Amino acid sequence: MKKTLLLFAALLALLCTSCEKVYTSESFFAMDTYISIKADGADSALLEKIKNEVYADEIGFSRTFSTGEIYAVNSTPHGGKVSEETAELLSRSLEISSATGGAFSPTMGTLVDLWDIKNENPRVPDESEISNVLADCNASDIELSGNTVIKKNPDTKIDLGGIAKGYSAGKCIELLKEGGVENALISFGGSIACLGNAEGRADGWNIGIKNPYNTDEIIGSVRISDCYLSVSGAYERYFEVDSKRYHHIIDPKTGYPASSDIESSAVISTDGTLTDALSTALFVLGKEKALELYRSGALDFEAVLVLNDGSICVTDGLADIFDFNTDASYKDGNKLVYNSTK
Ligand code: ADP
Ligand code: MG
Repeated sequence: MKKTLLLFAALLALLCTSCEKVYTSESFFAMDTYISIKADGADSALLEKIKNEVYADEIGFSRTFSTGEIYAVNSTPHGGKVSEETAELLSRSLEISSATGGAFSPTMGTLVDLWDIKNENPRVPDESEISNVLADCNASDIELSGNTVIKKNPDTKIDLGGIAKGYSAGKCIELLKEGGVENALISFGGSIACLGNAEGRADGWNIGIKNPYNTDEIIGSVRISDCYLSVSGAYERYFEVDSKRYHHIIDPKTGYPASSDIESSAVISTDGTLTDALSTALFVLGKEKALELYRSGALDFEAVLVLNDGSICVTDGLADIFDFNTDASYKDGNKLVYNSTK
C-alpha cells in the first residue's frame, strides 16, 4: 500500500511538472519601437520565426526602407503591384479611413515627411508648405485593383505608421496560436495584444493605461483577454518650440498636429489592425465624434478617452472592467475625474 501511494505521489508530481507553465520571452527593436513577447510554452524557434516576420513587416510596410513595397509604390508615379498581404492592409486602411470620415488616413506620407517629428532638429513648417502638400494627402488618390495600387496623384505617399504595428501584433498572435500557445502578451510600444490568461491567473491580463499628464502613473487598468489595446497620445512623440508642443498625430484636414479635446485615446477590440488605426483616428476626431462613431456601431470597439478638461470618458462596454486609479493626477495638483459615457 505504501509503495502504491509513493508511486501515485511520484506520478502526480510528474504530471504537475509537465503541466507547469513555462513562459518564454523575447524583446527587440523594430518598427521604431520596443517590442516584447511573453508567451506560455513558445520555444526559441517559434519566437525567432515571429521576430523575423516582424522584421519583414517593418521593411514591407515602411515608408523609409528602400527595399520595401510601400517605399517602391511611393517612389513610382502611378503605383504598381504589391503582395496580397500589403494590398489587404492597404485596403483595410482605406476602409477605416472612410469609416472615420478621413480622421485616419494612410496617405499622409508627404505631410509626415514635412513635419519630420523624429528629426534631430525638427521645425514647424510654413503655412504655405503645409497647404502645398495637403493636396497630396487625399486617401481618394489611392485605389486598389486586386493587388495593384493605382496612384491618381503621383506625389501621394502612403504611410502605414498608424496601423502597421497593430496589424503585425495580430500576425504574431496568429503565429503563436499556430504554434500551440494559449497564453501570451505582446507589446508593440503603444499597441498591446493579449491571448488567454496571465501567469497563474484564469481571468485574462491586467493592462494599465498610462496617464498622459504624468506618464509615470496609470489612469487605471482593464482586465482583458483575447483582444488588442492601442493607445495614441500627444505625449508619445513630439517636439517643442516656444513652449508649444508639436506631436506626431496629424489632422488630415488641417495638416497640423491634431488638437481635439482628447489628450490620449485607448481603443480595445478583437482586431489589432482596427485597434491601432482607431486609436489614432479617435485622437483626431475628439470626444463627440469619437462617441458618435462608437454609438453608430459601424465599427466594433471600446475606448478610454482622457480629455483635456481633466476627465476620463469610458465607453459603456468597459464600464464594468475599467478600474480607475483615483490617484491619477491632472494639472496643478488636481486629480483626473472619471465619468462613464452613460
Ligand atoms: P505610434 O506610431 O506612436 O504608436 P499612432 O498609432 O497613433 O502612434 O500612429 C502615429 C503615426 O501614424 C505617425 O507617426 C504617422 O506616421 C502616422 N499618422 C499621423 N497622423 C495620422 C493620421 N491622421 N492617420 C493615419 N496615420 C497617421
Ligand atoms: Mg495607432
